[in-house]
Amino acid sequence: MPIKILDSSFFFLDIPLEGEFAIPSAVERELKDLIAKTKLETYRAKGLFISEPSADSQKKVINAAEKSGDITVISDTDVDVIALALELNGEVVTDDYALSNTAQTLGIKVIPLQQRAAKKRKWKYRCMGCKKLHEKPGICDVCGAEIKRMFK
Ligand SMILES: [Zn+2]
Repeated sequence: MPIKILDSSFFFLDIPLEGEFAIPSAVERELKDLIAKTKLETYRAKGLFISEPSADSQKKVINAAEKSGDITVISDTDVDVIALALELNGEVVTDDYALSNTAQTLGIKVIPLQQRAAKKRKWKYRCMGCKKLHEKPGICDVCGAEIKRMFK
């Protein structure tokens, strides 16, 4: 399995991932709150390493962002995430549109985060009568009772 290069947003979301991980130090610097820092420590204990992409790789990413038109919206951290993926032959984990787009321009696979979250949180509504789980509010097709949003 290719190594996953994590974007900062990964550390602010409660979405676990399996595999090998790396981040550029620019991502580490963006993790200022305690929860994100703790999550980083947890992943470091599991083998996550911090590495710097070379100026060469950064340049390739900047060139790709210029071609794709993302250069005005892409951040230095985004560039480092993609450059590291390029060097390590890895995949990028992100929800950022410009970051995804530029990575894909370079043939790097992108793993979106929220889509996984959306799948995990598919069942958000529960029938008040028979307790069946539903995707939408309304009237239960089983017992006819009201379907309400679950809070948990
Ligand atoms: Zn029901």
